[in-house]
Amino acid sequence: MIHIAKPQMGEEEKQAVLEVLDSGMIAQGPRVKAFEEGFAAMCAVTHAVATSSGTTALHVALLAHGIGPGDEVITSSFTFIASANSVLFTGAKPVFVDIDPVTFNLDPAKIEAAITPRTKAIMPVHLFGLTCDMDSVMEIAARHSLTIIEDACQAHGAEYKNKRAGSFGTGTFSLYPTKNITSAEGGMITTDDDVIAESCRVIRQHGMRRRYYHDELGFNFRMTDVHAAIGLAQLGKLECFNATRIANAAYLSANLKGVVTPVVPEDYRHVFHQYTIRVKNGQRDALSQHLTANGVGNMVYYPVPIHQQTFYVNELGYDMHLPETERAAAEVLSLPVHPALSQADLETIVAAVNSFTEA
Ligand SMILES: *Cc1c(COP(=O)(O)O)cnc(C)c1O
Repeated sequence: MIHIAKPQMGEEEKQAVLEVLDSGMIAQGPRVKAFEEGFAAMCAVTHAVATSSGTTALHVALLAHGIGPGDEVITSSFTFIASANSVLFTGAKPVFVDIDPVTFNLDPAKIEAAITPRTKAIMPVHLFGLTCDMDSVMEIAARHSLTIIEDACQAHGAEYKNKRAGSFGTGTFSLYPTKNITSAEGGMITTDDDVIAESCRVIRQHGMRRRYYHDELGFNFRMTDVHAAIGLAQLGKLECFNATRIANAAYLSANLKGVVTPVVPEDYRHVFHQYTIRVKNGQRDALSQHLTANGVGNMVYYPVPIHQQTFYVNELGYDMHLPETERAAAEVLSLPVHPALSQADLETIVAAVNSFTEA
């Protein structure tokens, strides 16, 4: 079976973990700081704040920007549930805008109609490793004085006009095992704003600025040094991993027949967290079964848009129609693109897809 995702753990990660265990500094030690500094450098920003997951990174970033009850945050419905749930955790309301069918990301032309006096932020989600159209998003945000919180959980090292994902607003990343790099579980917040960075650090640790003095409500959303050691070793391999993902994607796009392959607009660096095709004419599920039967792992990211999830409909009363989001959910299929694929694996994937579409 060719798996849809495969974390790459080498001797460096194992050695780094053992060193932490031997050091006695398991939490709040030097590895978290080193990982934060390295991650900030990777994104070309001033600060990075490590958290326990991508979800907690989003939650903390929203709180640091003062988002809470009565506020609205504009985001995509075609994403992992954490993008919108993190808004709910603060007491604010996620407001969904439809996607651009070519990029699967927020359609900037549809954002302004969703802005109300309660709107505080736009959360562009850089889905599958491709950034949103950030010039347009930033222009709208500036015109309406809105904060930008990027969900870059799938976009480590992605670029828009030579600028890294996570450097346009306050950035948030996941380090879950399926992501382009992992710390087992973990998250990262990136920012150039000294005050936001400090606020994130305080919220991450029980609202504590001075030891055991608590001026505000915070959480325990810290990253351990064990996780940071893994993340730091992975960070050193990110460019290599991404280059391999990009090359694998280029091979697939050059050889797949009868499906819509991912588009990489000019001036974007797509880092292919997922390689996602569209399958027309209601054939998606049949192709998925054919691939599984032929030993090719595949997955639908995401079969149910957030505005149609049971909790959002039944408990929160969402009752809306987002045609492009719903069409994408019915047509997309992600194929393996991870750096562990061999040339033989790539040929197997192509043969399996083409034997279905050309039959
Ligand atoms: C993975 C992911 C998250 C959440 O990250 P966790 O580390 O799993 O909490 C949020 N948003 C998107 C788009 C993701 O892919």
